[in-house]
Amino acid sequence: MKTPIDTDPLEEELRRLEPLARALDTPTRDRDARTRAVEAYASAYLDAQGDAPAYTRSPDLSAGLLDTPISEKGAGLDAALGLLDRFVDHEGLNTTSGRFTGYIPGGGVYEAALGDYLAAVTNRYAGVFFASPGAVRMENQLVRWMADLVGFPDTAGGYLSAGGSLANLTAVVTARDVHGVEGETVPRAVVYLSDHAHHCVDKALRVAGLGRAVLRRVPVDEAWRMDARALERAVADDLASGLTPWLIVASAGTTNTGSIDPLDAIADVASRHNLWFHVDAAYGGFFQLTDIGKERLRGMERAHSVVMDPHKTLFLPYGIGALIVRDGTLIRRSHLSDASYMQDARASDGEWSPAHMSPELTKHFRGLRMWLPLQVHGVAPFRDALTEKLLLARWAWQELARSEQFEVGPEPDLSVVTFRLKGTDDANRRLLEAVHRDGRVFFSSTVIDGRFTLRLAIVSFRSHLDDIRLTLRVLEELVSDITQRA
Ligand SMILES: *Cc1c(COP(=O)(O)O)cnc(C)c1O
Repeated sequence: MKTPIDTDPLEEELRRLEPLARALDTPTRDRDARTRAVEAYASAYLDAQGDAPAYTRSPDLSAGLLDTPISEKGAGLDAALGLLDRFVDHEGLNTTSGRFTGYIPGGGVYEAALGDYLAAVTNRYAGVFFASPGAVRMENQLVRWMADLVGFPDTAGGYLSAGGSLANLTAVVTARDVHGVEGETVPRAVVYLSDHAHHCVDKALRVAGLGRAVLRRVPVDEAWRMDARALERAVADDLASGLTPWLIVASAGTTNTGSIDPLDAIADVASRHNLWFHVDAAYGGFFQLTDIGKERLRGMERAHSVVMDPHKTLFLPYGIGALIVRDGTLIRRSHLSDASYMQDARASDGEWSPAHMSPELTKHFRGLRMWLPLQVHGVAPFRDALTEKLLLARWAWQELARSEQFEVGPEPDLSVVTFRLKGTDDANRRLLEAVHRDGRVFFSSTVIDGRFTLRLAIVSFRSHLDDIRLTLRVLEELVSDITQRA
């Protein structure tokens, strides 16, 4: 027996460590002060957005950040916010600007940030139902909401991923397993997609062990939509030569041009030949909320799987995509896995656990960043903003088509407008460089049919008529600069 005077060296060490370790559990006063400081920083950031450039590039490209290394003592919150302000938040693409129409924008509806904040503070475990029935029900409710948007039956299931690339990967893996594409069969297995399909599909196939599968690039029509008759012919030819068609990846719409592949006609081909019909609607899926979009996306409800990206057309900050599969048990079949240390966590009450529907286990409680904005605003303003984007694209396309200096691509299916300065690739390249140097607005380029092509992707909830008008005005100014100098 120890006397009270005796000290156990282990306990003594624990007593020494405790107050030091408690530093991580910030006391209320400091916590509130830090929250206020971050809130003030965020608020100042957003208030400055009206006139903020859409693109900035400094000579040192944020390298000054590295002069403050991670250290034993830490720099403190004020210093850290100062570093963010100097080196991170004002350089590169300003994806929170309504004048940013490059790539596929994000935006970042504010309430999503509040959802992230709460998800981080409460740290609900959204991987398995047992751990947080409420969090899992919420994520499944969102999946169900998207399944209804697509027009899927009650059998549908899915999960909220970190983004469209991961969601496409999970779809490919699911389809691969359903069609038993493995081992010796891989080099004979054929995947059909157009040249405009997103490059993450190629990546997904490689990551899924299907790098040796045959990729059949189906020709597109004059509006860059997959030619369904050419698809039918390609499938028939491949069957005749002893190959094994198994997967069609349609885009709705493409990142490149916003074109929507003819989903209904492609669904016919898929069902005729018993192929998995996947629709990559990472960009276009949420246009289902609009009347125009619903019309254009007809046939999506016949897919086996659909990817949509709330961090694109639901205007959420980056870090959330979604995969919805018509028969949810099929994703589960590919991803269910178990271990003895998970034995307490098997209860489900009929809910699918995200960990059984994806490659992840422990994950961010992403549902909250989507659920909170939808609960706060309701769906209506999202629908209105999406309709506004479609009409802004139509407006920009009409203005560009009217101008003497530009030639336009086909009328946009969705909210991407493609156009060129009449003239050489080089003139177009110089114009884009001038736009990027100027920085007031930002858009990007692509190559279509071998030609350098400019594109506006109008996908920010902050883009309104004046922003797009400014974009066209900046273009006009810079064109005259360039032509005067040439
Ligand atoms: C953006 C995009 C992807 C990739 O999604 P991430 O969220 O960037 O990973 C896939 N397909 C299409 C059509 C896209 O627009």
